[in-house]
Amino acid sequence: PTMAHSKALLVLENFIGGKFVPCSSYIDSYNPSTGDVYCRVPDSGKKEVEAAVKAAQDAFPIWSSKSPLERSQILNKLADLIEHDLEAFAQAESKDQGKTITFARTVDIPRAVHNFRFFASSILHHVTECTEMPAMGCVHYTSRAPVGVAGLISPWNLPLYLLTWKIAPAIACGNTVVAKPSEMTSVTAWMMCKLMENAGVPPGVVNVVFGTGSKAGEALVCHPDVPLISFTGSTLTAQRITEKSAPHCKRLSLELGGKNPAIIFDDADLSQCIPTTVRSSFANQGEICLCTSRIFVQRGIYSEFLKRFVAEAKKWKTGNPSDPTIDVGALISKEHLEKVKNYVKKAQAEGARVLCGEGVDPLALPPGNQKGYFMLPTVIAEVKDESCCMQEEIFGPVTCVVAFDTEEEVIRRANGVKYGLAATVWSGSVGRVHRVAHRLQSGLVWTNCWLVRDLNLPFGGMKASGIGREGAKDSYEFFTEVKTITIKH
Ligand code: NAD
Repeated sequence: PTMAHSKALLVLENFIGGKFVPCSSYIDSYNPSTGDVYCRVPDSGKKEVEAAVKAAQDAFPIWSSKSPLERSQILNKLADLIEHDLEAFAQAESKDQGKTITFARTVDIPRAVHNFRFFASSILHHVTECTEMPAMGCVHYTSRAPVGVAGLISPWNLPLYLLTWKIAPAIACGNTVVAKPSEMTSVTAWMMCKLMENAGVPPGVVNVVFGTGSKAGEALVCHPDVPLISFTGSTLTAQRITEKSAPHCKRLSLELGGKNPAIIFDDADLSQCIPTTVRSSFANQGEICLCTSRIFVQRGIYSEFLKRFVAEAKKWKTGNPSDPTIDVGALISKEHLEKVKNYVKKAQAEGARVLCGEGVDPLALPPGNQKGYFMLPTVIAEVKDESCCMQEEIFGPVTCVVAFDTEEEVIRRANGVKYGLAATVWSGSVGRVHRVAHRLQSGLVWTNCWLVRDLNLPFGGMKASGIGREGAKDSYEFFTEVKTITIKH
């Protein structure tokens, strides 16, 4: 680009030791709703990661020795500052990611604020264990201490939401951090760095290094002085991280992909189930790890369900994400859009029926969005369980609907994928929802609802969906090292 052109772009800088530091090279970042480059992101590597880890190490002794209450007050202040700028953050998240402004305003940014408030509070309420052995004259107790410099790596689908879900517990527990957001969605993390000083976060406690996974991400994973890595992203990347970190015996938390089933029995309340299942399939363009992508419907209600489900899906309006009446924004990138569309083509080639959306209905876009990465909510029926559309994570606005007959059968089919993140079960029978929930291989099971979360409780997946859990107690345990101390009196 010419100088004049590049001046008009937003240029991000790394945040290291409390200062914004320029980088020697940059990556282009696109606005998914227009297809234009609008931002340049530092292309950090080993050198930048090295500097950030050093800053985090330097800040550790003071930060880790502060009382939980002092840290709590700082986290609360940071939450207030983000909330004060909520609209600016929401606009930036929508522009950078392609998500609708409504979703950014009501989900992403409020949750980022809440993440800080939640851990600011929960850190004050942990107690440790103590046991006695009177016959030996001994008491034992456990003590927990922060681990050190935490490496945090987050994906592009819920940028600030997921990054703060890691930063908040890490620093609340007294660690210092080096965070690397996705190179495709770095803007809100950079905006948050601008608030650190006012919030009272000491320099070096939160460092953010921007760049690609293969360069900046891997440098962080391989750094010998970063003993723990909290990662959210794809299963493939997690395998690479596991391999690369193995020589250092790092502590890993891995939150990965899903192929989440919705199981709908013939006694389900369809007036609740249908709108919720449309939402669980298409919210955030289907780019949420918890989105439903396999819908199993009991045969007796299959045709009725399909008819009403498709009618409801068609009500979702796709278009300019900054328009508050729009339900489906742009997908993250051109490549991702192609990948998602290809799944629909493969399903068609296998003889499945596309009932609405891609290739079936017209997509009319405003003049400014013609080059954006848009796609209509797409419902596919008559897909075989072995099809890649029923096995692989598509991570877009595509959902498959199939029929089943018995409880036994549907449990087996729902469990018949490599993933195990989230499932939903719809039934009016209390006994049945408990029975099915117990037998599903899934870290989270929602019955007669979706995405209702209590942050106190464990979040995470089984099988290829992850290792470890996050939540009040789980994040506390991950971000601290426990010691058992025995005293003889
Ligand atoms: P991704 O794995 O491609 O990237 C995630 C992050 O890892 C990015 O910051 C990326 O730069 C970095 N990265 C890539 N290669 C790396 C490497 N070799 N070393 C270190 N870091 C590396 O995932 P994505 O496409 O950004 O996100 C989508 C995926 O994330 C989906 O699979 C989705 O299901 C998953 N996800 C899971 C959860 C959850 O909580 N379980 C939440 C959201 C998204």
